[in-house]
Amino acid sequence: MTRPVLLAVDDDPEVLRAVERDLRERYREHYQVVKARSGEEALAAAVEMQQRGRVPALFLVDQRMPGMTGTALLAELRKHFPAAKKVLLTAYADTDAAIASINEIGLDHYLMKPWHPPEERLYPVLDDLLAAWRAEFRPPFEGIRLAGAPWSRDCYQVKEFLARNQVPYQWLDVERDAEARALVERTTGGLTRLPVVLFPEGPPLVAPTPLELATRVGLATRAEQPFYDLIVVGGGPAGLANALYGATEGLSTLLVEQNAPGGQAGTSSRIENYLGFPAGVTGADLAQRATAQARRFGAELLTAQEVVGIERQDPYRIVRLADGSTVACYAVLLATGTSVRTLDAPGIERLVGAGVYYGAAPGEAASYRGQHVAVVGGANSAGQGAVYFSRFASRVTMLVRSRGLETSMSRYLIDRIATLPNVEVRPHTEVAEALGGQHLEGIRVRQTESGAEETLPCAALFLFVGSKPHSERFAALVERDERGFVLTGPDLPRERGRPRGWTLDRDPFLFETNVPGVFAAGDVRAGANRRVAAAVGEGSAAIYSIQRYLETV
Ligand SMILES: Cc1cc2nc3c(=O)[nH]c(=O)nc-3n(C[C@H](O)[C@H](O)[C@H](O)COP(=O)(O)OP(=O)(O)OC[C@H]3O[C@@H](n4cnc5c(N)ncnc54)[C@H](O)[C@@H]3O)c2cc1C
Repeated sequence: MTRPVLLAVDDDPEVLRAVERDLRERYREHYQVVKARSGEEALAAAVEMQQRGRVPALFLVDQRMPGMTGTALLAELRKHFPAAKKVLLTAYADTDAAIASINEIGLDHYLMKPWHPPEERLYPVLDDLLAAWRAEFRPPFEGIRLAGAPWSRDCYQVKEFLARNQVPYQWLDVERDAEARALVERTTGGLTRLPVVLFPEGPPLVAPTPLELATRVGLATRAEQPFYDLIVVGGGPAGLANALYGATEGLSTLLVEQNAPGGQAGTSSRIENYLGFPAGVTGADLAQRATAQARRFGAELLTAQEVVGIERQDPYRIVRLADGSTVACYAVLLATGTSVRTLDAPGIERLVGAGVYYGAAPGEAASYRGQHVAVVGGANSAGQGAVYFSRFASRVTMLVRSRGLETSMSRYLIDRIATLPNVEVRPHTEVAEALGGQHLEGIRVRQTESGAEETLPCAALFLFVGSKPHSERFAALVERDERGFVLTGPDLPRERGRPRGWTLDRDPFLFETNVPGVFAAGDVRAGANRRVAAAVGEGSAAIYSIQRYLETV
């Protein structure tokens, strides 16, 4: 734990040195001594302390200073740190001012200058005050603090990013926490730009991009080398498995992930059908294990970096990142998976992050404890979500357009849901509109057979309405099927026995696209069966094809 601060303020350099010396002499082990030569300097130090989550235990301030008097300064400092002890250093002539400030600003004590010897005239007073302060002191969270508004989409996205990258943080709700609100206003001059990310060291970040945030919290965002044998695009199960096998086979391997390792699986509240985990495993846990495993064998992982293009410059493949940088390699694996389909109904887009969420939003679910939430979708991800929310919510209403869950959900989940008294499944029902001003207050639902509509009050709406392949970026490079999934190996359309545009006198390897050296695996690949185990299997198996390819370059 960082040491609380003792802040000494005096405009007389001699006196300030003496105060600092005596304070360090006695308190340096448990407190950090900070000094300031004026009221203005002390206030600036206070704002910086607050931004860094440092806590002052005591202010020792000279009364008679040019500009701002000690009493005036303590009145200001009290606004920042109401719990800190306040001591005024005075000359005899200032006694009245000191006594008056006991009522005015809640002064804890005043001490006459000079205070020599400190053992008799300084330490006993400060020891008592610090003991009283420590009795009340609750050490603040020392990591990253995120100050924002509960219904802000930007704040929700930063929370999700930190949670999914397993970066611990403390959430400060500026609507409920006056101190956090004041801090944000002091840092940004208002509440328009949120969130404000506060760090133990260095200046805060205001409404940062994922890349700015990733760089600041120490996640790798820039490749260490200009060239790799293999670059893996996407850090879901397929990409992580491929990176692990690439590294264990001795290939220099770089994995580039635009959001957080784990992909879709990383958002799952509990994966119960992945081999080797009899009690199931949370997506976050699986992501952390797989990332650690790949790194252990030397794979390099970049986060918050999107691959926006791949160029063919035989024998190299040039991978372009969203920040404009490029990295070269021999082989590329596209493991970009799928992204959520959006629901086209009035009010949905506007309320995303303010009660409406795509996917399980594990970071948000607990904040709907004891409330009614709705889940849209009939596949496994929706089923898992409903089981997860049933632990917090008073009621979970599942809305499915089909006649029931049988058509799209695994048996184990259907049986589980049937045992949950607070989960209701509504077949032939869809969302017609999301209702609410600043945040979701309810939904208008429509019965798809009768067209009848009703309003359902609910605090949150979790959408699992299907997914589409993450392949747009590479549409000009690789062959895709009519739904956008990437075609590979034997699935590639052929002309005169060879894939269109294929110039080599060999067939494409398994998982190889129509571009030699560019492979695809996992959910983005046409024909994949969209399960964690399958993605891991494809990612691992693709390394064999990649090695065969590398033997040809
Ligand atoms: C909520 C939920 C629960 C699920 N539960 C289960 C379950 O219990 N059991 C099961 O077997 N399956 C489950 N699935 C399905 C499973 O998660 C997927 O089949 C699996 O994650 C697919 O892995 P993938 O690596 O192919 O793709 P993804 O997991 O989709 O990962 C692709 C990654 O690529 C990144 N990316 C995309 N484009 C780019 C780019 N241009 N640059 C950089 N990075 C990029 C994405 O950000 C993403 O992280 C679930 C899915 C969801 C959504």
